[in-house]
Amino acid sequence: MTFKELGLSEALLKAVADKGYDTPSPIQEKAIPRVLEGKDILASAQTGTGKTAGFAMPMIQLLCKTEPQKRRVIRALVLTPTRELAAQVLEDIQTYSKYVDLRSMVIFGGVNQNPQVSKLRSGIDILVATPGRLMDLQNQGFISLRDVEFLVLDEADRMLDMGFLRDIKKIMSMMPDKRQNLLFSATFSREIRTLANGILTNPVTVEATPENTTAELVDQLVYRCDAKRKIELITKLIWDGNWHHVLVFTRTKHGANRLSEKLNKANITAAAIHGNKSQGARTKALAGFKDKEISVLVATDIAARGLDIPLLPYVINFELPNVPEDYVHRIGRTGRAGASGQAISLVSADEIEYVRGIEKLLGTRLESTVIEGFEPTSGPVDGGKKRTKENKPTGTNKPTNSRPANRNQGRGNGTNATGSGNSNSGNSNSGNSNGRNFRRKPRNTSGGNTGGNSRD
Ligand code: AMP
Repeated sequence: MTFKELGLSEALLKAVADKGYDTPSPIQEKAIPRVLEGKDILASAQTGTGKTAGFAMPMIQLLCKTEPQKRRVIRALVLTPTRELAAQVLEDIQTYSKYVDLRSMVIFGGVNQNPQVSKLRSGIDILVATPGRLMDLQNQGFISLRDVEFLVLDEADRMLDMGFLRDIKKIMSMMPDKRQNLLFSATFSREIRTLANGILTNPVTVEATPENTTAELVDQLVYRCDAKRKIELITKLIWDGNWHHVLVFTRTKHGANRLSEKLNKANITAAAIHGNKSQGARTKALAGFKDKEISVLVATDIAARGLDIPLLPYVINFELPNVPEDYVHRIGRTGRAGASGQAISLVSADEIEYVRGIEKLLGTRLESTVIEGFEPTSGPVDGGKKRTKENKPTGTNKPTNSRPANRNQGRGNGTNATGSGNSNSGNSNSGNSNGRNFRRKPRNTSGGNTGGNSRD
């Protein structure tokens, strides 16, 4: 299947060619023709599947059918849960609409509203927004939604998790009843279905990939170690592996700051991204990471949600999330767009129960091992076995300080992380090779804001 066969116009085909996409992704193949037909869509798709182009391209094409009026009005609204996702969606929309006469912009909280207001006043066709700032500017009379023909709810499940339901309902009531609606969600809880029923008219259901193919390429590993040695271990992994593009998750904002500081002290360029950082700092950190000026981005769950970081080779869970579904979202950041990736979790004794929760959700075991010199000194050993004299690790090696003076000198080939996995005394859980292929199961809870982002 080609993009042309999907019915896209020359202007969009040209933009796609510029972007270098060869073939449509499965969600694009399924969604684009139906959106062009004018259908409402209920799509199950995660970030990383190409969903943004799946809704943005046909939406742009449909909007171009009508000549822009002298005074431009908001004809399309895209709602996203986070500022970062909103910024990325706008970037994509502007890429795909570069050969057509449409104006688009993004609004979100955490930044001065004045530049947003003056841009809104100049007239725009497509508005990308987080619900909070949209409500705010609407209440002040800077936004009218009465001409909206096209509504996209992106990552609807996360918007509900973040408590935006009331805002979404209010926003709906400000729009004309007759419009085309697209709802994207990674998971389908009862709440999402209720929301979908209230918004969509005779929707076509579109699934990106029932079994997440990108995530199948993710190699998942658990390294058991003591909590107090995690910083040392992560530093060693990054150094020895010569990793220069790593996304690391912590459970708390404070933890993200602390780890980022420690990594910088160890000459590994790192930045933290979380809800307490100013929008400027968040944008700068993300841009630095994308441009590879920063090797490690340390993030909380919410801050990382929806981030589009293509071809990310490594994701490290410095701490496991206490909500198993967040693990699935985290490791969805690697193995993207057909590339393979590694998801590594540093697990201390107090987190074993989280491993069990994740395994239950995935329906498979996670491969668990120990790095020589980092054998855990407390808690059960792998597989939940109690430590006994017999299975106590014998390795007494202190971690070798293998860090070269300059990060770019004398680097290994990046194989140490798994290569030095210790199968010491048979303690290392040989795991289940199926553990590398996980199946995504529907979420059945709606909590999970462990990062505590601001509701913008
Ligand atoms: P998304 O799921 O929309 O966040 O997209 C994930 C990544 O895939 C982004 O970096 C897109 O630029 C990229 N992408 C989207 N569609 C395609 C395609 N047809 N071929 C290759 N890459 C794509």
